[in-house]
Amino acid sequence: MKYFPIFVSLEQNRVVVSGGGETAVAKLRLLLKTSAHVDVFSDAPVRAVQDWAQSGHVTLHRRKLEAGDVAGARLFYAADEEAEEAERAAVIARAEGAIVNVVDNLQASDFITPAIVDRDPVTVAIGTEGAAPVLARAIKAKLEEQLPPTLGALARVGKLFRAQAAKLPQGLPQRKFWADYYFARGPKLLDAAPEQAEAALGELLQQHMEQAPDAGHVAFVGAGPGDPELLTLKARNALHEADVVIYDGLVSAPILELCRREALMIAVGKVGFGPSTSQQKINDLLVAHAKAGAQVVRLKGGDPTVFGRLDEEIDALEPAQISWHIVPGITAASASIAALGQSLTKRGRNQDVRFMTAHDMKGFAEQDWRALARDGEVTAVYMGKRAARFIQGRMLMHGANPATPVSIVENASRPDQRTLATTIAQLGADLAAANVTGPALMVLGLAPRAAQGHQQQEIAL
Ligand code: SAH
Repeated sequence: MKYFPIFVSLEQNRVVVSGGGETAVAKLRLLLKTSAHVDVFSDAPVRAVQDWAQSGHVTLHRRKLEAGDVAGARLFYAADEEAEEAERAAVIARAEGAIVNVVDNLQASDFITPAIVDRDPVTVAIGTEGAAPVLARAIKAKLEEQLPPTLGALARVGKLFRAQAAKLPQGLPQRKFWADYYFARGPKLLDAAPEQAEAALGELLQQHMEQAPDAGHVAFVGAGPGDPELLTLKARNALHEADVVIYDGLVSAPILELCRREALMIAVGKVGFGPSTSQQKINDLLVAHAKAGAQVVRLKGGDPTVFGRLDEEIDALEPAQISWHIVPGITAASASIAALGQSLTKRGRNQDVRFMTAHDMKGFAEQDWRALARDGEVTAVYMGKRAARFIQGRMLMHGANPATPVSIVENASRPDQRTLATTIAQLGADLAAANVTGPALMVLGLAPRAAQGHQQQEIAL
């Protein structure tokens, strides 16, 4: 971060602008939203500047800026139409201690003016360090859409309710009131009767005060392998209704975007082998939020019942008498097999299929390797990347045919999905060479169908 965002008070402060053309007008329009005292230096001010001078909004000096003019000013804008004049003015301003912005000249500026979403007193400033003004504008447009125009008025009235709202029980009841106030019923009440907004909003607070606290609940929801279209409708509904979402690192960004925007989002994920929130901490979070009355969604990658430490979390809820239910999801094995264009089971080939984890609490997990090594067996290996050579060794040791196909599907169902076809003999070397960084599932016993000469249509994600 090269530029540090701050909000500067311009109350009782002087801002000096050099220039009186259209460039200056654009900046003045922003500055006039503040209560700063604005001095404009220009020997050829355009109409708008003259009008603002006439109405007392700015002080116009009909001459070029000179030494001494910027003394004591907090901010300075070199908004001249000619670059040389702007440069000259900037030198004076800097010498006199103001922070300088030379309009449209990043290099020569001490500060930049961000794109602004104005819901006074709520202000959102967007900066891209000059990298992409188009992006800043696009973000601004998105935010404008999301922040109701009533937000400013609500925030002003909201200040009056703060002490009173603090009497609501802390945590969820307060958050629920403010969410209702700013995003649900508040804007409607304000729209309906702007003059009586205060009374109507006071009534809203009263209703929240009188409400019996909700009973909390935890839904263990499967987020699927990553593609938001692979969420179940039930999962989607649960996300829409959640007050609190406690989610794993495997859950993809487009899925998190489906959560209610007022929901409290808590990441407990571990990314790869990086640091993670301890299971105890996760259990505590579940219990604490549900006890406070929240509808909690515990969002887990794939299916919550597959290698997701689900039982430990349920065991934490039971003594606290917190109700819960499970919403199944599409597990990584299903998505990966689909990517391979294969079937998990096939008559005459395998009557059973295994989902195994390569890791257990002690390290690499031991399995019934002799059974796994039989011809035709299909095994989906979760968390297998690091254990590839171990699995290879165990399979060969227990008599697996070295030519047994192995497929690896990285980022199954995501835009960056990748499949790798190898064999037991080559597994360790091929996987090491492939530089797999995303979550990956290993399928022992199956090659991608395409590798067998069949066509599978690539559907654009
Ligand atoms: N509950 C999850 C599995 C959690 S264990 C499920 O049902 O899918 C985490 C492992 O799942 C990862 O190490 C990886 O092996 C696998 N995995 C999860 N998402 C995946 C994806 N999109 N593509 C490939 N493998 C994935």
